Amino acid sequence: MKISKRKNIALVAHDNRKKHLLEWAKFNKGSLSKHKLFATGTTGGLLEDVLDTKISRFKSGPFGGDQQIGASIAEGKIDFLIFFWDPMEQQPHDPDIKALLRIAVVWNIPIACDRASADFMISSPLMNQEYDRILPDYQSYIDRYKDKK
Ligand code: PGA
Repeated sequence: MKISKRKNIALVAHDNRKKHLLEWAKFNKGSLSKHKLFATGTTGGLLEDVLDTKISRFKSGPFGGDQQIGASIAEGKIDFLIFFWDPMEQQPHDPDIKALLRIAVVWNIPIACDRASADFMISSPLMNQEYDRILPDYQSYIDRYKDKK
């Protein structure tokens, strides 16, 4: 499955991590401008101010935004995730966070959960070219009840 040159990037940051994501986004404004950006509600509003650009905003994380991003990944509409989750505090929507991280791995989506990873990923030459994303072969899992009918 192809990830095109212009990537659909979802950005999410928990409250204690928003400052870090905003600083990172500001520093990488030029690189980010080459891609289509999505975000959860509050993060997206803050990013719009910092980047001075329109961002497609899902609901706020605790109100379903993480699940919306997960669903978009499953539908092939998001192909890159920058998710600064908070390692020091529980969130009311912890199950949704786990689900989002899980579905991103199921679909072999690049995920950056901290600034260093985000730095390495945004500066990769692959950011500016098409990328052939290998999808794990889940067919045997899908077919597991076929002969049992
Ligand atoms: P927010 O949601 O951008 O609306 O704060 C982020 C999250 O908690 O998942």
